[in-house]
Amino acid sequence: MTDWQELEHKYLMNTFKRSPLTLVRGEGARVWDDRGKEYLDFVGGWAVNVLGHAHPEIVNAVSEQARTLIQTSNQFYTVPQIRLAELLIENSCFDKVFFCNSGAEADEGAVKLARRYGRLHLDGAYEVITAMGSFHGRTLAMVAATGQPKFQEPYTPLPEGFINVDYDDMDAIKRATVKKTCAVMLEAIQGEGGVNIPDGNYLKEVSSWCDELGILLILDEIQTGMGRTGTLFAYQHYGIEPDIMTLAKGLGGGVPIGALLAKEKASVFGPGDHGSTFGGNPLACAAGYATLKYILEHNVVENCRQVGNYLKASLEGLKAKFENIIEVRGLGLLVAVELSSDIADGLVKACLDEGLLLNAVKPSALRFMPPLIIGESEVDEAMGILEGVLAKVSG
Ligand SMILES: *Cc1c(COP(=O)(O)O)cnc(C)c1O
Repeated sequence: MTDWQELEHKYLMNTFKRSPLTLVRGEGARVWDDRGKEYLDFVGGWAVNVLGHAHPEIVNAVSEQARTLIQTSNQFYTVPQIRLAELLIENSCFDKVFFCNSGAEADEGAVKLARRYGRLHLDGAYEVITAMGSFHGRTLAMVAATGQPKFQEPYTPLPEGFINVDYDDMDAIKRATVKKTCAVMLEAIQGEGGVNIPDGNYLKEVSSWCDELGILLILDEIQTGMGRTGTLFAYQHYGIEPDIMTLAKGLGGGVPIGALLAKEKASVFGPGDHGSTFGGNPLACAAGYATLKYILEHNVVENCRQVGNYLKASLEGLKAKFENIIEVRGLGLLVAVELSSDIADGLVKACLDEGLLLNAVKPSALRFMPPLIIGESEVDEAMGILEGVLAKVSG
């Protein structure tokens, strides 16, 4: 049998701390490795596979589109791009969309759009306020936007124009807002930062502050969008309408695609101001269209809300039994448990051996981000495995 992992170490850059398994196939919320072992997948392609693996609607849409037209460049109009744009705009508070290929690229685009807006309407303002503990991607500018020193320090000097302030602290944003501020960019819930949920009024207050000063609110919904938190977009929980929103992860149901959406007033790009060779490519947009249409027509968001509540309740049950769990937090199917010590990596490893894939979002926290189509029986199965593992750890 080919030792894929040995070959990888020979040929690939050593950038990922991978779990020691090679996945070859998936279906629904399950995946199989190259030795035929089955796993229940609560990593879900990193909060990407909202409809699970090999969903027939996505498979059909992608196959059909691959046979028809894969790539044209943006020199031409293409139908899948327009259909996905219409579906996104008609189901959100935004007026215009631009498609790209990843989350980092969507956030970069959003910052460029905000700077364009600053030039046109805010006397040249260019600075963007972002939060500590945030995650906005791996490009140089998004590393500057990401308020985590461990991502920033190896790559200085970083592009200017970002100021990182404490998350969930309205006064910190007020203090940081100056004449050169053009936007505030935040996640509705900090995903990579550990599933950090802000106070119920925070985003509303930030939104009002931005409105009052005429600066833009950019909401990074790359992880929280596409139903993940139990509403189609997380801003809907908070009674706000951001000026700009970014999407990626779940948008293509597993096929790489990103997008930035904006209100009419903030849609200030003109011809040539921004672009992408692959952005909005027919294949990716066909996947996105099939994904979003299925979400809208099959109560996927409702299911996510219900099963998410069930997952949280089940985890609360484990918390009552095991002292290692000190907090359960999350919305919809973006959930984390905080542990009393740095045992997350060990738990992930032990669960993997028992056939459950989980993510250690921090040394002291587990993250659950399964497909949004799972049922309570899959939660029960996952909880059974986790309980067994916790029982062993607790000795
Ligand atoms: C994953 C993520 C990104 C970066 O997306 P990539 O596709 O990896 O570039 C940006 N922001 C948030 C909130 C994310 O979760």
